[in-house]
Amino acid sequence: MALSEQRYPEGSRHSHSVRVAIAGGGIGGMALALSLHDAGFRDVDVYESASRVKELGVGINVLPHATRELTELGLLDALDAVGIPTAELAYYSKHGQPIWSEPRGLAAGYHWPQFSIHRGQLLGVLHRAVCTRLGPERVHPGHHLSRFGQKADHVWADFVDCASGVLRSHVEADVLVGCDGIHSAMRQAFFPHEGPPQWNGMTMWRAVTEGAPFLSGRTMLMAGHFGRRMVVYPISRRHEAAGKALINWVAEFKNAPEQPMPTQDWEHTARREDVIEPFTSFVFDFLDVPALIRGAATIYQYPMVDRDPLPTWNFGRVTLLGDAAHPMYPVGSNGASQAIIDARTLARELALQRSIEAAIAAYDAQRRPQTTGVVLANRQGGPERCLEIVEQRAPDGFVDLDAVISRAELEEIAHSYKRTAGFDPKVLNNRPSLGVGQHSNVQGGRSSS
Ligand SMILES: Cc1cc2nc3c(=O)[nH]c(=O)nc-3n(C[C@H](O)[C@H](O)[C@H](O)COP(=O)(O)OP(=O)(O)OC[C@H]3O[C@@H](n4cnc5c(N)ncnc54)[C@H](O)[C@@H]3O)c2cc1C
Repeated sequence: MALSEQRYPEGSRHSHSVRVAIAGGGIGGMALALSLHDAGFRDVDVYESASRVKELGVGINVLPHATRELTELGLLDALDAVGIPTAELAYYSKHGQPIWSEPRGLAAGYHWPQFSIHRGQLLGVLHRAVCTRLGPERVHPGHHLSRFGQKADHVWADFVDCASGVLRSHVEADVLVGCDGIHSAMRQAFFPHEGPPQWNGMTMWRAVTEGAPFLSGRTMLMAGHFGRRMVVYPISRRHEAAGKALINWVAEFKNAPEQPMPTQDWEHTARREDVIEPFTSFVFDFLDVPALIRGAATIYQYPMVDRDPLPTWNFGRVTLLGDAAHPMYPVGSNGASQAIIDARTLARELALQRSIEAAIAAYDAQRRPQTTGVVLANRQGGPERCLEIVEQRAPDGFVDLDAVISRAELEEIAHSYKRTAGFDPKVLNNRPSLGVGQHSNVQGGRSSS
C-alpha cells in the first residue's frame, strides 16, 4: 500500500488533469461530483451499482451546515422548490407533554435554511445538476464496484453488473473514492474482519402519509424516548402549497432481545398493525400517531445500525466518504449532512494540496475526528438525549418540567450537539467557505416563503 507521492507539476492547474472515479451514486457520491466540478475538476465519473439512479427513500434532513455547501454549489433554489424549510424542532414526552423546542434554520439565525426533504428528491436535485454540469455520460448506472487496486501512479477498479456479475468496465484513474454506503465494498476491502453493521436493537419503521399540517406547519417533532419514539416532519413544498402536508415519520421501537435484526435494505416493508401496536397511546391534541401510521401506503423497515469509527480513511490514492466512512445512527439528522461536508472538504483538499496523497491525508485529518465525534454522540442519543432523561426521571409525566430537567441542562444538550456536529450558528455563519469554486461565499440568507 505504501506508494511514492507524486507531486502535481509545478504551476499547473492540476485539477483539470486529475481523473477521479467515484464508487456509489448516492447523496455523498453526487455531492462529491458536484464539489469537484465546482473546484475545477472535469474528469470525474460516478459509478452506481443500481441499474438506474432511483429516487428511493423517505424523508431526510439537510441541516444548515450542509445547506450552506449546497447553496455554494448553486442548488438553493432547487432545494427550496421541493423541500420544507424547517422552522422548529420540538421534543415531547410519550404523554404528549412539551419538553423542549427551538427555532431551526433561518428562524434560528442561520444564514442558510434547514430542509426536510424526500431523500429521492434530494438525490434527484443532485443527480440532475451532475448531468447538467459534468454531462450525463459521466454517471454510470449498473456499475457495481467489485475489485480495485493501486499502482505507483494510478488506481484501477473493476465494475460489474450487479445481477449477472459480468464485467462492465475496467477503469483507471488518479483517485478512487468509496461513496458506496453502509455496506461499502471498499471499506470491507480495507477492513475485511469488520463484519456487518452493529445493531442497537431498535427497529425503525419509516413511511410518508398525506395529512394536515401540525404545530407550526414546519415543525420537526420527536415524541417518546429511546425504545419507543416517533419522529415526524413534513417534507413536501408541493403539498404545503395546497394547504396539506406530506408527513414523513419514523416509528422507532426496541424489539425483544431474542428477535433477529431486520433486513438492512430500503425495500423491506412492514405490516401496519405491527407498527401501530407500540404507539396506540400516542394520540395527542396536535397529532394522532396511530392515524398517521394507518394512512401510510408503504412502511419500510430498517434496523438502527452504525459501525465503529475507523483508525484511518487514508489509503494513498483511495479514500472513503459518507456512510462508507462513518455510518451513524440517524439521530440528530446528520447522515446526509456529514456526507455533503465530506464531499466539499475532499474536493477542496484535492484542489489545494500539492499532491493527491497529501489531499487525502488532509481530508482524513479534518473529517475523521469530526465525524467520529458525531458517531459517538449519536450513540449517546445526540440532542434527543433529553427525551431519555425525562423518561427516566418522570415516566408517569410531570406537572413542573423544571423540577425534572432544568432549562440550563436542556440548553447544554442542544448546544453541545451543534458544536460536535459543526452547526453551531455563530461558528457556521462566520467560518470561511469550504469551497474554492465560483459559487463559494454565497450567502443563503433570504427568507423562504
Ligand atoms: C436506497 C436508499 C434509500 C435511503 N433512504 C433514506 C431515507 O429515507 N432516510 C434517510 O435518512 N436515509 C436514507 N438512506 C441513507 C442516506 O442516504 C445516507 O445515510 C446518507 O445520505 C449518506 O449518503 P451516502 O452517499 O454515503 O450513502 P447512500 O445514500 O446510501 O449511497 C450509497 C450509494 O452507493 C451505491 N453502492 C453500494 N455499493 C456499491 C458498489 N459496490 N459499487 C457502486 N455503487 C454502490 C448504492 O446503490 C447507493 O446509491 C437511504 C440510502 C439508500 C441507498
